[in-house]
Amino acid sequence: MRAAIDVFEDALTRIRDYGKSADVPEEVVESLMHPHFMLKATLPVRMDDGSTRYFAGYRCRYNNTLGPTKGGIRFHPDVNVAEIQALALWMTIKCAVVGLPYGGGKGGVVVDPKVLSPMELERLSRAYMRAMADVIGPHTDIPAPDVYTNARIMGWMMDEYEAIKRTKSPAVITGKPVRLGGSLGRDDATGRGAALCVAELAKKRQFDPGKTTVAVQGFGNGGYHVARLLQESGYRIVAISDSKGGIYSPDGFDVASIFEGKQQTRRVRAVYCDQSICEIIDHDVISNEELLALDVDILIPAALEGVITKRNAPAVRAPYIIEVANGPITSNADSILEENGTVIVPDVLANAGGVSVSYFEWVQNLQGYQWTLSEVHSRLQQIMCTAFGEIWDYSAERNVSLRSAAYALAIRRIGEAVQAHGTRDYFGN
Ligand code: NAD
Repeated sequence: MRAAIDVFEDALTRIRDYGKSADVPEEVVESLMHPHFMLKATLPVRMDDGSTRYFAGYRCRYNNTLGPTKGGIRFHPDVNVAEIQALALWMTIKCAVVGLPYGGGKGGVVVDPKVLSPMELERLSRAYMRAMADVIGPHTDIPAPDVYTNARIMGWMMDEYEAIKRTKSPAVITGKPVRLGGSLGRDDATGRGAALCVAELAKKRQFDPGKTTVAVQGFGNGGYHVARLLQESGYRIVAISDSKGGIYSPDGFDVASIFEGKQQTRRVRAVYCDQSICEIIDHDVISNEELLALDVDILIPAALEGVITKRNAPAVRAPYIIEVANGPITSNADSILEENGTVIVPDVLANAGGVSVSYFEWVQNLQGYQWTLSEVHSRLQQIMCTAFGEIWDYSAERNVSLRSAAYALAIRRIGEAVQAHGTRDYFGN
């Protein structure tokens, strides 16, 4: 069950708290307390039965101090202003954490895309871009995929933008199909970035992958790829879930089989597949709530925000949490987990592989030049490992959490840009 909290207020709490320890002028923190721009639009869409339905669409450009705003578009029935603003704020911090020349943005549509036909989904995606085309652009605000949006939807949106502007403009959106200007390696970049964080953590804490168990909540773009890559590195993936519930087996699952099974029935099932023949294997059916409380070494929330709260944090037994989802842990749950000694690799680092390769895609589009997959992988590794090392060292030197360290470093970087324009210290003298 997700928390009924104001997720934006909660995100601001962290800026206030971590801003204090970042040692920056107060006005830097103040500048991060206010979204620059929030657009709400009504998107009329012709349905297959001939009727017209009206969907609410949002785009937030939170802060562009470090560059054009960057952030995904989410299609989900629970999308709301607070959520979009929180996600856009987290993007602002995340881009600064990994040193990208971007600010933070986010968008969304209030819709259950699972009940739309493919043509209705295309019309909705194009309607979104028609409504937002004046505030989006390759040097102003660059969207990407998020929950329940994908490469095909990014391709439709780019196409609509290009039709409106009457010019080719692949850099307007990232996460596109490779043939439409997408980058090699963008599809699994979020999971790969998180797996790189686990590899760095393993070096610090000397994990033996074969003896390390992992539970993954959410089996979409982020969750599937991190589970797959960790299994390939020898980790035992003992629990997986999606929106319909979860499965658990202490012996571990074959992630490729679970993926194959999900393609066939659109739900996570405990199967082992040989070619396309899938057989059910021994397992327990568990709820998403039970998954979060499993006795595993690494817990990976990779679905939605607000799933670990003050209420259920005491039940979390995993000593390590890798936040692939944005905002899965509320700020008041952080302190409970910290007291229990849980090490949390925060979302603003753990899932930054996605925006990093989105940045590579944008650079390639602007240059009109495609990088090889190995070039993408090695640059991603460089970005993730550098950021992990900086955050780990800052956290160890000051005895603060990895989240506190990540926010402090990000706020300082944004602060340097704010100070370059002049602050009260400069103008007041
Ligand atoms: P996705 O749409 O590909 O997958 C979402 C998954 O979550 C699906 O398996 C869905 O069944 C599951 N899910 C939905 N509601 C759930 C619930 N209540 N309980 C358990 N599972 C549930 O989305 P994604 O792109 O993998 O995004 C997942 C998270 O990762 C989000 O928080 C997103 O903001 C974050 N993220 C994604 C990217 C990216 O590149 N896609 C990058 C950074 C962060």
